Amino acid sequence: MGTENPGRPNFTTRPTTTPFAAPPQTMTPFSSSGPVAGPEASGFRPPPPASQQTPFSSSGPVGGSNASTFRPTPPVAPQTTVPFSSFGPAVGAQPSPFRPSTPARFNDPSVPPPPTTNVPPTVGPFSRFPTPHYPSTPQFPLTAPPPPSRPPPMGQLPFQPPAGQAPFQRPLQQMPSVQMGSPPQSVSSGPPSVGVHQSPSDSSFPAPLPNSQTSFPGYARKQVSADSQGPPTQSPFLTQGGYGAPPAASSPFASQQGGYVPPPPVAGPHHMQHPGSGPPLGGVQALTEDFSSLSIGSVPGSIEPGIDPKALPRPLGGDVEPKSLAQMYPMNCKPRFLRLTTGAIPSSQSLSSRWHLPLAAVVCPLAESPDGEEVPVVNFGAAGIIRCRRCRTYVNPFVTFTDAGRKWRCNICALLNDVPSDYFANLDATGRRIDMDQRPELTHGSVEFVAPTEYMVRAPMPPLYFFLIDVSSSAVRSGMIEVVAQTIRSCLDELPGYPRTQIGFATFDSTIHFYNMKSSLTQPQMMVVSDLDDVFVPLPDDLLVNLSESRSVVETFLDSLPSMFQDNVNVESAFGPALKASLMLMSQLGGKLLIFQNTLPSLGVGRLKLRGDDLRVYGTDKEHPLRLPEDPFYKQMAAEFTKFQIGVDVYAFSDKYTDIASLGTLAKYTGGQVYYYPNFQSTIHGEKLRHELARDLTRETAWEAVMRIRCGKGVRFTSYHGNFMLRSTDLLALPAVDCDKAFAMQLSLEETLLTIQTVYFQVALLYTASCGERRIRVHTAAVPVVTDLGEMYRQADTGAIVTLLSRLAIEKTLSSKLEDARNFLQLRIVKALKEFRNLYAVQHRLGGKMIYPESLKFLPMYGLALCKSAPIRGGYADVSLDERCAAGHTMMTLPVKKLMKLLYPSLIRLDEYLVKPSTEADDLKIMENRLPLVGESLDSRGLYVYDDGFRYVLWFGRVLPPDIAKNLLGTDFAAELSKVTLCERDNEMSRKLMRILKKFRESDPSYFQLCYLVRQGEQPREGHLLLANLVEEQMGGTNGYVDWIIQVHRQVQQNP
Ligand SMILES: [Zn+2]
Repeated sequence: MGTENPGRPNFTTRPTTTPFAAPPQTMTPFSSSGPVAGPEASGFRPPPPASQQTPFSSSGPVGGSNASTFRPTPPVAPQTTVPFSSFGPAVGAQPSPFRPSTPARFNDPSVPPPPTTNVPPTVGPFSRFPTPHYPSTPQFPLTAPPPPSRPPPMGQLPFQPPAGQAPFQRPLQQMPSVQMGSPPQSVSSGPPSVGVHQSPSDSSFPAPLPNSQTSFPGYARKQVSADSQGPPTQSPFLTQGGYGAPPAASSPFASQQGGYVPPPPVAGPHHMQHPGSGPPLGGVQALTEDFSSLSIGSVPGSIEPGIDPKALPRPLGGDVEPKSLAQMYPMNCKPRFLRLTTGAIPSSQSLSSRWHLPLAAVVCPLAESPDGEEVPVVNFGAAGIIRCRRCRTYVNPFVTFTDAGRKWRCNICALLNDVPSDYFANLDATGRRIDMDQRPELTHGSVEFVAPTEYMVRAPMPPLYFFLIDVSSSAVRSGMIEVVAQTIRSCLDELPGYPRTQIGFATFDSTIHFYNMKSSLTQPQMMVVSDLDDVFVPLPDDLLVNLSESRSVVETFLDSLPSMFQDNVNVESAFGPALKASLMLMSQLGGKLLIFQNTLPSLGVGRLKLRGDDLRVYGTDKEHPLRLPEDPFYKQMAAEFTKFQIGVDVYAFSDKYTDIASLGTLAKYTGGQVYYYPNFQSTIHGEKLRHELARDLTRETAWEAVMRIRCGKGVRFTSYHGNFMLRSTDLLALPAVDCDKAFAMQLSLEETLLTIQTVYFQVALLYTASCGERRIRVHTAAVPVVTDLGEMYRQADTGAIVTLLSRLAIEKTLSSKLEDARNFLQLRIVKALKEFRNLYAVQHRLGGKMIYPESLKFLPMYGLALCKSAPIRGGYADVSLDERCAAGHTMMTLPVKKLMKLLYPSLIRLDEYLVKPSTEADDLKIMENRLPLVGESLDSRGLYVYDDGFRYVLWFGRVLPPDIAKNLLGTDFAAELSKVTLCERDNEMSRKLMRILKKFRESDPSYFQLCYLVRQGEQPREGHLLLANLVEEQMGGTNGYVDWIIQVHRQVQQNP
């Protein structure tokens, strides 16, 4: 069988070599399994279940002579990932000879399946809106009628817009700059200098690594400096309603408190004035005083529903990291690594039950750090890593030393530990170790330990990249193969891990093609396997090669790949068998598998069929299965990949249904990522693919990793949400992980009442760095325990909450209807606001006003945006099934800032900036001039850029001055913009625009934003590119922001 591809060069054909499968492995490479677990695998379960066997109970002692009721560390990695109860031999019916010996120890059937079905990610990089549902053009200022008067919601609400209310004025230019939460900043790469120095003379620290070592040597960092450029301590919103802080006295709006809020009626504290934000007025003063007298630091705001859309709070400053915890505990790790949904842990279960939002953490363990803030690397040398012998907590800034420096008390379980002699230091009069300043682990909330051999069960693996590329005719036609081959080739010098890096390739259509890349060859040899029922690997060696040794063969291969298949007419896809072959090849070492897929798998195991074209199933119980993998094969393969330390990234390009729901599963359970380029055409999307693939290949990657988050006694993590495989109850297996991945976990109180004052959290990521060193990255944070519900709400972190809500809602779409997911979101928001209202409304006689804590002022907006996001919105026709699933996969992994930007994108006016003189230094400042996402923000005379982090839309107003359009578009300025591509032209204005877009991209490098051009009135493009994304507008049957607020408010007021 097997189709010979006409275009194939004369490579040798399938040899009769013994299949790779044959050599019996006397040494099962993985019998002791992933190097992964090591001591980190031991978990701390606060109440040591003496009688109950923990999955790790039998593991070998690492704790030395200190027998303890807590499990010692298993010397061997837990091997089984038990994601599905039905988990069985994944590699087909016949036991694969590669299968390592059965993992005996951790194969505990009682281990629960992964808590959630998380969906694989994303928003389509190019979210298209196949059936634009924008019913009508929004009103533009020039022609706009007065704001629509909405019918009074219900009799009791005073809802008429003020008569004669001015149409939405464009506040823009006059608007004070609101500093954004994530101003971009380009930082040069290079070894960072770390401000911590270790005293070389410190004899107690035998083998210190230079602390200046960066944790990711050589990785160019381009990153948002969240901490150095964060918003001012005072919320930009303090002043008023929605468009940012009021300008100085010279502002035309100064007399109106920020411009948009009508002068407060004496009796109505309806806007969000609160203490510290300026002179309080009238009734507001009374309100703030009342709250002040209740010792409330931040006063709840309020809105009279519908009274003035302009007064609604809008997150125009982007995501804002909470500051108060950092002020209270300066040694906490930075919020970019760990954020909690509230910086106040409830002291009791009853209090917790009145916090209706998720109680949870969002962890981004490898978040990029701005220059100068790299995580310090510490090598304890002979002393070994200092950990609590009972709960295995790593030494951190919150442990205390006693007994003249001979003992230390664990901040998590309170056990008094001995200080090893190699780690001893005297204490000063205040009880501080005298060497404190030379000990990053005692002064930094984030630190990276060099792990000794007991944290390995095999030699640290080299970085390994295996590429599995679809070469069927549709893949060839799309031009994808050429872009992929060129990009990989251009990245060869930058792949991490030189000179250990390994690389290999396979291609497939109706057969599978392997490539012998032995370094002694002058060109690669192709071997074709056409027996799809009994897949084997035709060469035991030389299909995965050392890149530096086989560099020229690899280059030759990549240079010839695009032409090898250029005449291929094969329309089949033996994807499943090719996947199995990849597993066989990679199972010895692990690594990253990058899949480039174009044709729906049609042959052999794992073949898929067209689903989702029956509209009748929408809205019924048969709807959600469409968003789940159809064939258990994909989950089983994902489990196998994880077991062998293989992370899978899926790049999908099809112009037809390609079942992202099934394919994405491979990424979801292996810590990977889904990249979706629907209807890929290299001429249009090539640049995006090039950038995103290059980032995937060159960003620093943590290999064969496991992650655990510990927390203090009485509190426990109960569910995990993101892309990973859960190994044991609280250990996340992450075959490969990088800075673009965040994980979320919910926690609950185990005890009715907490007796502690502070809860500590400690994230530990044990991994192999590309340089070959085994490392443990540790983030520690302290959080106060409170008895006051109001304090929980005041310390709420909207970004973390929305991240959790989005993941929970997306998971819900896998078991319910989309409508149920939206109802879930709305209900959580309503419950939280109702609870908060109950705290304050009665005594303050707030009557019909909506009140909410300052900290949650953007929550309703984000909730609305979530309901309108691709994975959750609509019913059937407005987002294709694949796009919905891809968007879901992406959103399940996004760090907080990225998600917030996607939910409330930025809209910025450019024309005025382009025509006036300015310096390059000003370019990024215009990012601060974000506009509300409403039609009224768009002026027909203007040029705007819309940026959701995944793409840009450049909107040309109908009466934009022609010279601007000419400068930017050249002779195409009058053409239909769908046919025009933006490029740099020979004039200052064009250069300036391109420079700005370049800076925007550099500030947000996780994805590449293609720039789409559209002119006002060009339908339907304008609708689906931009208008449908103005999330505050009412469209396609969804609520506008005002209606949404009224609806939420009405529900909040309902009893109970
Ligand atoms: Zn402890």
